[in-house]
Amino acid sequence: MQKERVVVIGSGPAGLTAALYAARANLEPLVISGNQLGGQISITWEVENYPGFPDGTTGPELVEKMQKHAEHFGARVMIDEVTEVDFSHGRPFHLKTHGEELEAETVVIASGASPRRLGIPGEDELIGKGVSFCATCDGFFFRDKDVIVVGGGDSALEEGIFLTRFANRVDILHRRDELRAGERLQTRAKENEKINFVWNTVLEEIEGNGKVTSVSTRNVKTGENAQRDVDGVFIFIGHFPNSDLYKGQLDMDERGYVKVDSNMMTSIPGIFAAGEIMDSHYRQIATSVGQGCAAGMMVERWIEDPDADHG
Ligand code: NAP
Repeated sequence: MQKERVVVIGSGPAGLTAALYAARANLEPLVISGNQLGGQISITWEVENYPGFPDGTTGPELVEKMQKHAEHFGARVMIDEVTEVDFSHGRPFHLKTHGEELEAETVVIASGASPRRLGIPGEDELIGKGVSFCATCDGFFFRDKDVIVVGGGDSALEEGIFLTRFANRVDILHRRDELRAGERLQTRAKENEKINFVWNTVLEEIEGNGKVTSVSTRNVKTGENAQRDVDGVFIFIGHFPNSDLYKGQLDMDERGYVKVDSNMMTSIPGIFAAGEIMDSHYRQIATSVGQGCAAGMMVERWIEDPDADHG
């Protein structure tokens, strides 16, 4: 059984920042990467709003630097996924990965969130065959093709703009006639000649035999149904927290976000949470970094004196 003082679950900005702070406190934290090293930002192409990068940066570049930074001070990153946790007996906490069994004095949960699905016919069956949740990963395969993007938030517009590098035409389908995305992205998308907005419209089915060929849509105002030929469907309709593993063990809200106190401590002393697993509101790299920093600092203080009032 591998024994650790600090195990960080997840390697996105929250996890790597918690690891950096714990490493600088000489706690040699172990970061368990999850199925995607770097988390969601590793598949985000443009990052324009992370302080200190006035000319922007890319998600992969930022995450690589964050990992190097944490490792420089003694954090270790293990490429594996936590498959089971048992917090019921108190400290040390028990964790299993695909390859290891671990005991941890403290745990920081930073396992983030995953893209939501529409739940319509054809969606699951055609993933990887034209249906995608990541323009950065799959955009390249749609050179000179026609694609649709579903959603009206920052992700839909940002990824839609990215797709215009490859695609012939990008139709953004939104269920309302008002975008949720920020002004700057709205302006950029509206000025882009390859982007066409389709308002008040929802997808009802994605069709194709082995690859996407068309979609069925419905106008929610007129009730009118239509079918359009497309090569790709990119879905950006929000996220859900990756918290199934902790259900029944940690307090959560009704949507599955892990509850923490002002010290980033969950309902079990010694277990902390940071990033999109506990934050459905801000969901920015900068806020995840801040939450990870707080969790890393509190881990150190808590190990030093678990009974103190850290208020
Ligand atoms: P989001 O802001 O929650 O937007 C989700 C979009 O999907 C909304 O337009 C929503 O429509 C639509 N939607 C939800 N469920 C749907 C359904 N079943 N069918 C059709 N449409 C549906 O999600 P997000 O765009 O992923 O952004 C999440 C957070 O990350 C936000 O805080 C955002 O600011 C942040 N973010 C920031 C950046 C950036 O700053 N560059 C980039 C990406 C994300 P309604 O509008 O009608 O609800």
